[in-house]
Amino acid sequence: MELEGRVALVTGASRGMGRAIALKLGAMGARVAVNYVSVDPQNEVDAREVVSALEGLGAEGFIVEADVRDGEAVKRMVDEVVEKWGAVNILVNNAGITRDTLLLRLSEQAWDDVIDINLRGTFLCSKHALKSMMRQGGGRIVSIASIAGVIGNPGQTNYSASKGGIIAFTKSLAKEVGSRAITVNAVAPGYIRTQMTDVLPEEVRSKFVEMIALRRAGEVEEVAEVVAFLASDRASYVTGQVIGIDGGM
Ligand code: NAP
Repeated sequence: MELEGRVALVTGASRGMGRAIALKLGAMGARVAVNYVSVDPQNEVDAREVVSALEGLGAEGFIVEADVRDGEAVKRMVDEVVEKWGAVNILVNNAGITRDTLLLRLSEQAWDDVIDINLRGTFLCSKHALKSMMRQGGGRIVSIASIAGVIGNPGQTNYSASKGGIIAFTKSLAKEVGSRAITVNAVAPGYIRTQMTDVLPEEVRSKFVEMIALRRAGEVEEVAEVVAFLASDRASYVTGQVIGIDGGM
């Protein structure tokens, strides 16, 4: 229960990696605000299920709706968490999307959507959560980047740019807020089994597996382990880093 007394906010936590991270932090004793965006009524149902799963672990959770692209909504979300639990100690910037296609076919809309949710969302959530962390005299920001942001990937210029941007953002912000005992790190997952990758054609998925030293896709729980470490006191001297979680891709 090493995160007992801490408040975590996980964006895009209604499913996939965000859900696994929320449950891991809850299992370690944190109170977890489960962010979702209400594009579809199912999103709220899924977010409520995550809260039930947290309660099943003996942890506390509650759902907070916000589109991470929307500065006003993000501010409201952070205020809501602070009002309920007094602080945000841990922020996990997990919400993210892909709109994959080759650059010559990439629409301006698909470029903007990916940059806005992945990169602008990370900026807005970090900015608003930081105020509470500064008041608390410390905190943890962990953002989910991607191997695509480190080595690039054809068909993902928009996504790679957003994730590379998150990495540069992480390194710069770590230098800005280190003196306030706030650490800022990123993880760069490779091919992890979620709805995001389940939609890829079978041949693409098997090509990925051939490129992985461990010869298999990663599981969301394997990402959650590393995020939980970075969110904990055990990582007190780690900041401005990007940790690969890619099975040796
Ligand atoms: P996922 O299953 O598609 O989940 C993405 C989550 O983000 C969903 O909960 C989604 O909510 C939420 N989201 C989307 N737009 C949002 C918005 N505007 N505001 C708030 N939440 C929003 O994907 P995943 O695989 O778990 O991905 C999680 C993170 O890991 C992403 O940042 C992704 O880029 C990164 N990543 C994934 C892999 C992989 O192999 N899976 C590899 C590297 C990095 P809805 O349910 O409403 O859509």
